[in-house]
Amino acid sequence: MTTQAAAKPPQTPDTSAATPPWALITGGSRGIGRAISVAMARDGFRILLNYRANSAAAAEVQAAIEATGGQVRLLPFDVRDKPAVDAAFATLWAEGVHVSVLVNNAGIAADGPFPAQTLHDWERVTRTTLDGFYNVTQPLVMPMVRKRWGRIINISSVSGVMGNRGQVNYSAAKAGLIGATRSLAQELARRKITVNAVAPGLIETEMIKDVPSEVVRHIPMRRIGQPEEVADLVAFLASDRAAYITGQVIGINGGLA
Ligand code: NDP
Repeated sequence: MTTQAAAKPPQTPDTSAATPPWALITGGSRGIGRAISVAMARDGFRILLNYRANSAAAAEVQAAIEATGGQVRLLPFDVRDKPAVDAAFATLWAEGVHVSVLVNNAGIAADGPFPAQTLHDWERVTRTTLDGFYNVTQPLVMPMVRKRWGRIINISSVSGVMGNRGQVNYSAAKAGLIGATRSLAQELARRKITVNAVAPGLIETEMIKDVPSEVVRHIPMRRIGQPEEVADLVAFLASDRAAYITGQVIGINGGLA
């Protein structure tokens, strides 16, 4: 079969340029988001580092990246708060900042058996993941469409793929994020914008500090994953080497699923 010889190469943002492209990482101040911010900076992106409340953690990541010659701009907002997100983006746009890569990583868990689950815990978990996805992603899509290049990477979870007892709220939110990923990927594929989900298993961050150590027995590799391992997968998906991957849910879980 002949290929379309005249097809133009993708207009990849040039990470070696004097003004490298921007990558926005929500929840970039701790855990997996911190590792993603560091990895993306290593790969030449300028980092828009979002967080909600912990300014000290965000400042620490900023210092670590700047110490290796990277560029970071802190962008605090609560992803659930649409007016706050819009205000932050309005400031960026006024300065001509274009977001080439978006990593929707901000997420929380509030686990417990479903009969005891409060509406408050249902709402804060689902709103962080799903309203957060909408609030941050929707305004950034048309600017990516105009540039004919973009990467959207959504951090889901093995829990959104398989379900997990005690995590009805969290599984619902993370499975919803997978649905959004697949649909948006179809809408944007012709514009050279890829949309993928990464579904980690147990990764060593504060989020799993209360998980009993015996769970390791259920992981075929018999170990917890490291944030840097997830970050390397995200960095690959953000690169041009992953240009033909879209609408996928990529597990990284030591064989758990
Ligand atoms: P952490 O609790 O270590 O870090 C969470 C980060 O998200 C922090 O930077 C936090 O900022 C930020 N955040 C939380 N809520 C909001 C909000 N409303 N608005 C903006 N930022 C917010 O989590 P992990 O690194 O463990 O998890 C990162 C992602 O990976 C999550 O989506 C999680 O569901 C997912 N995941 C994690 C797994 C694990 O085993 N750790 C497994 C599978 C998926 P601040 O400190 O300022 O509140």
